[in-house]
Amino acid sequence: MAERPYIVGNWKMNGTRAMLSEARAIDRASQRLMKVEVALAPPFTLIHATHKEVEQIGVGAQDCHAGEEGAHTGDISAGMVLDAGAKFVILGHSERRQDHGESNDIVRQKVEAALAVGLRIILCCGESAATRDAGTAEDFVTAQLRASLPQSVASHFEASPETLTVAYEPIWAIGTGRTPTVADVSAMHRAIRATLVDLYGAEHGANVRILYGGSVKPDNATELLSADEVGGALVGGASLSAENFLGIVMAA
Ligand code: PGA
Repeated sequence: MAERPYIVGNWKMNGTRAMLSEARAIDRASQRLMKVEVALAPPFTLIHATHKEVEQIGVGAQDCHAGEEGAHTGDISAGMVLDAGAKFVILGHSERRQDHGESNDIVRQKVEAALAVGLRIILCCGESAATRDAGTAEDFVTAQLRASLPQSVASHFEASPETLTVAYEPIWAIGTGRTPTVADVSAMHRAIRATLVDLYGAEHGANVRILYGGSVKPDNATELLSADEVGGALVGGASLSAENFLGIVMAA
């Protein structure tokens, strides 16, 4: 486990202002748990209110557009989420790739746009059940990672070593209650680490935190977080309740 684990809640398309009390509870408890870095990615509509509500935890977005402000009805730019109070953005989540046809090319352009305004990136990657069954999960995930990361990431490490976080989220484990074995998580995270070292060199590539995501719950967090090269967790369903999410933070 990394020196300071990073536990990030992804609220997905959940939450109205009534949920701000959960964010507040998570923030208050996190103030007493300084050894863990805690963050929440609420929907766009709650970014600013969450940012105003919390003192300790990070607030981020779940997506942004690849372009600058302009004629894109319904879209939100990187600059706009930054202005709302976001410090990071989750990009390339499998639900975006599936529901919105986001290719590696589009994800890479979004990473560029987010880096350009100074947002930190949580880049998601992960294989389908069919790819896992075919025995090609590591090849698929490392290729997806390479294709989703722009060259320009490297130039940001000097100024901001925490510019990039990678989240490994096997699609078949998201929201299903199924999780990979610790051995499988370790093998994949080692492959991702080797790819990052190859891309960014030993110094920077070794420091990028690699989160595990997919059905992380208070009762399996200790085990999943014990896998090799796991620097924290990206948590969906269990982040919607402060009690469950804090159970995971406590386990880290
Ligand atoms: P889950 O989602 O924890 O509900 O499986 C994880 C994610 O998609 O980030």
